Amino acid sequence: MALAKFDVSKKVPISRAKIGDESQRWKNVTLKAMGGSEELSFPVMQASTVNEVRVMLAEVLGEDLSKIELYEKKGCQMKRLRNHEEVPTKVLVKGIKNFARKVEIYPHPFVVLGAGHLGLRQALHWQKIGQDFILFDRKSKIGGNAWNGIANKTSKLQSEGAHYQLDYDVSDGVERLLPFNKYSFWPSRDDILGHFHDVVTEYNLWPHMVMSTQIMDIEIIPEPKGAHERMKAYKVKHLHVGDRFQGQQDATQNALAEFSGQTLGMGEAMASCMAFYPGALASPHRKTFPGEDIFGGQVGYGFNDEFDYTKTTGQNGIVIGMGAFAVENIRTVMENNSGKFYIIARHHNLLLPRMLSWYVNQSRMPPPAAVILRAMEPMYKYYGKDPWSYHSVMTNADRSVASIKQYTRWGIGDIYFLGVFYGKVETVEGQLKRLKRRMAVITSGRVIKDIDHVIKTLGFDSDFGIDKINHTKKHVGYWPDGDYRRWVASDQSAIDASRFGGTAISPYAALCAYWGTHFMHYPEDGKRLLEAKILAENVAKPEVGAAAYMFEPRVAATVQVAYGSSVPEMGDWQASNDAFKKTSMWAVCPPERFLEECEKDWFHYCRKFKEFGDDREFPPYPYTLDWTFDLLRQEEEDGIQFAVKGGQLTKEQADELRESNIGKFEQRCGEAK
Ligand SMILES: Cc1cc2nc3c(=O)[nH]c(=O)nc-3n(C[C@H](O)[C@H](O)[C@H](O)COP(=O)(O)OP(=O)(O)OC[C@H]3O[C@@H](n4cnc5c(N)ncnc54)[C@H](O)[C@@H]3O)c2cc1C
Repeated sequence: MALAKFDVSKKVPISRAKIGDESQRWKNVTLKAMGGSEELSFPVMQASTVNEVRVMLAEVLGEDLSKIELYEKKGCQMKRLRNHEEVPTKVLVKGIKNFARKVEIYPHPFVVLGAGHLGLRQALHWQKIGQDFILFDRKSKIGGNAWNGIANKTSKLQSEGAHYQLDYDVSDGVERLLPFNKYSFWPSRDDILGHFHDVVTEYNLWPHMVMSTQIMDIEIIPEPKGAHERMKAYKVKHLHVGDRFQGQQDATQNALAEFSGQTLGMGEAMASCMAFYPGALASPHRKTFPGEDIFGGQVGYGFNDEFDYTKTTGQNGIVIGMGAFAVENIRTVMENNSGKFYIIARHHNLLLPRMLSWYVNQSRMPPPAAVILRAMEPMYKYYGKDPWSYHSVMTNADRSVASIKQYTRWGIGDIYFLGVFYGKVETVEGQLKRLKRRMAVITSGRVIKDIDHVIKTLGFDSDFGIDKINHTKKHVGYWPDGDYRRWVASDQSAIDASRFGGTAISPYAALCAYWGTHFMHYPEDGKRLLEAKILAENVAKPEVGAAAYMFEPRVAATVQVAYGSSVPEMGDWQASNDAFKKTSMWAVCPPERFLEECEKDWFHYCRKFKEFGDDREFPPYPYTLDWTFDLLRQEEEDGIQFAVKGGQLTKEQADELRESNIGKFEQRCGEAK
């Protein structure tokens, strides 16, 4: 296995050495491995002792402290330095051959839970670096709960296909990514499952995968007395469940309840480290509303093909809820040439037009909410509402700063806005009180008449059973009870931020695969992070459907910042992953082509509405190339201002950069036209 190189250009990561009063000066210490030529220089405080440097070396490089000795050359003599002495500026080190960090070697394979996007991405990472692993999933097919238990056969990705690819990996570059002529800008459920299948086959992950197998419990087996802590292990108790969970929405707690006490089909595997990717959409909320029995039309849930959309042609209905699934359901009924559909929601939720999803996902630095809200305005004209006036928006008088907080994930799409323009979609604020025959009574007192369909999209809980099998009391960052050899992560189910990092999961999947592994390979970094107490903690909150691994979005953001800023290698990797967002998007999904495709879809729906008797002139697509490049210019300016504030650029350098950028977008825009 490759050894990670100690980066000599940086300060030692969060050294535990008590190196004196902060006001003292730093000095540079250069270490040279005895018998080798490699040198390592790093700053320490003036009064740092020999022992502090020995301890730091042992921890950071994963070496045995008792074998490390420091020497100083005095003329032609070598003087062994004693622990209490102040460390000199030039030191020879005995007991270390080179300054490469040692990857921890464990006795057992690693285990992945979940064969959804995140779990498969982790498996791919471990396969690429030669780490032995076993992946368990209770479903018989890969693709996860998202694509094997929730999506409809008509479902499509809402964000861009460019950033929903398993082998999205900055170290492989853009060549590995599927271009838009092979994998659509908005791939369907089957496209996605086909892509997952191809990647798993290409990288030969199948021999590592144990499908139809539910993880029932994790027993922590401490290391034997006196043994190194790498000998600590996890006994993974698993149960063969056959086809029971394929094509179902499910959660570990349901499976635990159903199979409790069963011994037939039970097995055990030993693991040294584990990564859990159980998903955020584990249990759909189900509720029977008063009057469903007398409604007389179709009442069902808007996922997993539970609803027959073909029956909506020419008929009216309601969709309960206004998150990403409501958007998906509106698109589907419109494709079936439905009549009018009403969205019933406590509040109007902000939805993201496609061009804005593209913009956010290609941005190196998360764009500010104020920029996003301003960019929503052209599309929201069709909706007849000012995006700044939404309950979820907090802003100042001149709307120069803003934050957005919503209890749903972003619903992305243009068709919803077009549907409102054509009078085919209406959002009704309130809750469904009861159904009557072909009618819906809303808590506001409004009665919606002449409806034939009720589609329920009521939200999802995360998987409380994951806390149970891990025996988790609280999460410390992504670690159950602060155990840095178990990593639990999922996407977010809500929005709360003043900057937005992305709507597509692949960059995050790559980050998780790399970050989780880092602490398994370099456990000392995990220990130091815990000692520094900078990771946010979280407990399960059943009242909002959140297991302990599901942080509130703002807290989740602080956890990511803590990981990224505390370990230099991880921060560097994150920076290159962020930069790859732009490179990959522009290579696979360039703005001109993406805009063209958005327009094509827009006018396709306009023609559909015309066929259904609306003779109005087609409304223009609200975004243009000039508009797009103007937004991109704002992104560059935002980046420049951020760098000036952070001291990475002087004012003069910033002006130079602006100067060199002038004309860049105009030229591209001109060429595209
Ligand atoms: C219709 C639809 C559209 C979407 N559109 C987008 C989009 O446009 N962009 C985007 O980024 N995301 C989108 N998503 C979100 C999607 O959920 C995520 O992108 C991603 O697929 C989640 O993957 P995951 O691996 O985290 O979880 P999941 O897909 O939920 O997989 C978790 C897996 O873990 C397994 N598991 C859990 N517990 C156990 C256990 N104890 N033992 C064994 N196995 C277990 C489950 O069986 C499951 O297979 C969409 C989702 C849906 C349903």
